[in-house]
Amino acid sequence: MSPRNTALLSALILSFSGFVAHGAERSTVHAGHVVDVETGKVLADQAIVIEDGRIVSISAWNASAASGPVIDWSAHTVVPGLMDMHTHIADEGPYADPATPLKSNPGRDALIGARNARATLQAGFTTVRDVGVYRGLSDVVLRDGINAGLVPGPRMFVAGAYITIEGGGGEITGLPAGTVVPPAFRLGVSNNEAEIRRQVNTLLDHGADFIKLIATGAVLAAGTEPGESEYSEAEIRAAVEEAAKRGTFVAAHAHGAEGIKRAVRAGVRSIEHGSLMDDESIALMKQHGTWLDADIYNGDYIDTVGRADGWSEEILRKNLQTTEAQRQGFRKAVAAGVRISYGTDSGVYPHGDNARQFAYMVKYGMSPLQALQSATLVSAQLLGRDKDLGSIAVGKFADLVAVECDPLQDIECLRKVRGVVKEGRLAGRE
Ligand SMILES: [Zn+2]
Repeated sequence: MSPRNTALLSALILSFSGFVAHGAERSTVHAGHVVDVETGKVLADQAIVIEDGRIVSISAWNASAASGPVIDWSAHTVVPGLMDMHTHIADEGPYADPATPLKSNPGRDALIGARNARATLQAGFTTVRDVGVYRGLSDVVLRDGINAGLVPGPRMFVAGAYITIEGGGGEITGLPAGTVVPPAFRLGVSNNEAEIRRQVNTLLDHGADFIKLIATGAVLAAGTEPGESEYSEAEIRAAVEEAAKRGTFVAAHAHGAEGIKRAVRAGVRSIEHGSLMDDESIALMKQHGTWLDADIYNGDYIDTVGRADGWSEEILRKNLQTTEAQRQGFRKAVAAGVRISYGTDSGVYPHGDNARQFAYMVKYGMSPLQALQSATLVSAQLLGRDKDLGSIAVGKFADLVAVECDPLQDIECLRKVRGVVKEGRLAGRE
């Protein structure tokens, strides 16, 4: 391309993308209403000015004060980008056949991850903590692809693989006798403290952001029981120590009360599921400031769609044993003031339906504001990223979602997404 054409192209890019003279990329969202999740106040007719992906001002709308291109959300209510702290977007799912991950290949898995990432972003979820994959490190690839602008998707924090005992809740089980699972699917298998320490470091060396450890059996892993512990407190502590040395944390899958207590005492940052929590485990989570991610929607999906699609009797049984108990535990945890982030286990149900869980959280004890805070402020705190994420505030990333109505009046409004901006860019125009 000649220098003259290059200059012309640059001029065109500048004029289309709304660059201002000093080179910063600016735009303005005209918001019919804005929900301040810190205070619960809803402000009418606001201008949110964005520069280089961050919010630089929020003020009463005034057409002459708009800077750069205007995103017209004047008919909508604007909430912070939603955050799901328990997803599996780099994996296929849902499925009835446990061998499904083994029948794919890395290229196909990348395409499936891209599809799931787009569906998640379009549903208003601009950040996810993706808590484990079967094909090790496929989540790292997807995260890096999104960050490089190759595919649209939420900002991802990833685990790389599951730290799990051999044959435990993080393994692919339920296969025909004699089936050999390739090593790529078993990167996190660790049977003692020394192996845990080594595998934690290996996963972090290869790009994981944090560690996911399977402390008890799982609903979806054949041959394991949710109520049974799979690691000792000392083993979980070994993972916490190694993660801490690298400046990060452990998220522990734990259904059973004993497994929850071991994990909390060992210093994990969050309990995933917490289905069979008792009063003592709730008190311990509160005392230690441990976050709880309770996936209280997907039990209904498994019991209806899963049942109709031929999921195994064992899974259906374990799902029934954990669903109602988890919801009652959730109600108690809300009342006790446990920090509850928003984690749904997407992949157990279809990606993009992440917001279905909000109504369950309101039904089981949260106010609509608390439910929205769990998916914004509280999740940002869990990630240690509340300076950048979790509310619509000057200095934070411009992660914004337009919904059809006021979620503080009707929480189901969060399922009626009309537009998504991630780091200042309108989704669908990456
Ligand atoms: Zn999960």
